[in-house]
Amino acid sequence: MTDISDLQARRISEQNRIRFLLNSLKAEEEAKIKGGEDAVAWVKEELCIGCDQCTIVCDDDAIELYDTPLASPIMNVDVNKKARILRDACTGCKLCVLGCPTDAIIMIDR
Ligand code: SF4
Ligand code: SF4
Repeated sequence: MTDISDLQARRISEQNRIRFLLNSLKAEEEAKIKGGEDAVAWVKEELCIGCDQCTIVCDDDAIELYDTPLASPIMNVDVNKKARILRDACTGCKLCVLGCPTDAIIMIDR
């Protein structure tokens, strides 16, 4: 049976896997994305699937998930998750932009 320590170990393992993938991205690709202290991340709600990848890569606890209704004719699920950025905590590091599988996160002027 899975316990909390197993889940924590899996989370750390997944964090390391994502970080390795992100680090291997081409520098030019990252350079195209605005970042730094004058920028802040923004989630395009309609593209967010609530997968939780961004909260794993964010070192600054600047992203939280919230419940939102899921209207699906094929799935019997009432609630979906969406991500939102906590602007004050966001350092503009861009990691979440690179980690989001649906390109739901962009960087905007602070
Ligand atoms: S990684 Fe992207 S799709 Fe997944 S929860 Fe974060 S913003 Fe939403
Ligand atoms: S830009 Fe960096 S600090 Fe801001 S939400 Fe994304 S991962 Fe967190």
